[in-house]
Amino acid sequence: MRVVVIGAGIAGLMAAQSLVKHGHDVVVVDKGRSPGGRLATRRIDDATLDHGAQFFTVRDSLFESHVSEWIASGVVTEWCRGFDTTIQNNDGFPRYRGVRGMTDIAKHLAQGLDVRCNTLAFSIAPGATSKWQLKIDDGSVLDADAIIVTCPLPQAYALLVTAGIELPESMLRTEYDRTICLLAVLNQSSAVANPGGLQNPDETFSFIADNAIKGISSATALTLHANPQFSLEHWDTSTDDVQRLLLERAGPWIGDATVITSQIKKWRLATPLTIWPERYWTNDMIVLAGDAFGGPKLEGAALSGLAAANYLANN
Ligand SMILES: Cc1cc2nc3c(=O)[nH]c(=O)nc-3n(C[C@H](O)[C@H](O)[C@H](O)COP(=O)(O)OP(=O)(O)OC[C@H]3O[C@@H](n4cnc5c(N)ncnc54)[C@H](O)[C@@H]3O)c2cc1C
Repeated sequence: MRVVVIGAGIAGLMAAQSLVKHGHDVVVVDKGRSPGGRLATRRIDDATLDHGAQFFTVRDSLFESHVSEWIASGVVTEWCRGFDTTIQNNDGFPRYRGVRGMTDIAKHLAQGLDVRCNTLAFSIAPGATSKWQLKIDDGSVLDADAIIVTCPLPQAYALLVTAGIELPESMLRTEYDRTICLLAVLNQSSAVANPGGLQNPDETFSFIADNAIKGISSATALTLHANPQFSLEHWDTSTDDVQRLLLERAGPWIGDATVITSQIKKWRLATPLTIWPERYWTNDMIVLAGDAFGGPKLEGAALSGLAAANYLANN
């Protein structure tokens, strides 16, 4: 089969890898400059900062087998066993990170695949010589026997309008939390304690990471995720104002350090608020997958991608 996968996030890449192993001809397209989607690592001078997903956990044995391979390949490593410093050894469950950042996982999975970045999928329609045709925004066309769509659902709907495929009403209503992310490079150590991560530390932030303590950055650099409530309330605030406000609120974790440089990154479709009960949804050789199907985390998205590929491999 000729399969086009839309989205080179974890779901799309896992799906593509699996289909290639089954002998299918797969092209992955992504509108971003590099693979990863919400697995995103940014470099600012000597600092390396994860600004999307911060870590992941493993519950499912199929996912565990993939993670074992990533560990053996030097792509991921254990970060810690929890972020509550008041409990010794925390809950005991490993939190994994990319060795040099979370995008390491995407780069690893993209190896050997035909991944076309800077390629915006524009619309899906029945093809003249193939089952489906995907139009790219530069006017080119990709023919496909099947298409896996892994972008967040509002982006998927836009693509499917021309396909004549109706999506379930409840799926159309899926909403996403937003995340405003502050990235701050510091001139010296921060006030964040080992292991370098804080979950829901106050009324503004949902997660704070010190990327140097985490082990991915040679310079001290903080990633601060504003929680969904703050992010929604301040979504339309100007970037300068929200940056100023978040830097103020980050004071306790910046400590005695000085901020050398800072940036704001906004995730409009950060986390799906409802999860489809199946790991994928399909109609007429179009398969929808991603974290809105497998659960709002890296593991769920990966398992959704694998399940979508498995469905196509068997149909
Ligand atoms: C701020 C933040 C923090 C998070 N923290 C964690 C965490 O600590 N642990 C955890 O497990 N999970 C975390 N998550 C969730 C996790 O990142 C996601 O569940 C997972 O990465 C989703 O993968 P995906 O492949 O489903 O989607 P995505 O990674 O979003 O991939 C979809 C891809 O589709 C592409 N795309 C969209 N539209 C088009 C188009 N028209 N044409 C071409 N390409 C298109 C996008 O560029 C993107 O690369 C976090 C997410 C965010 C945003």
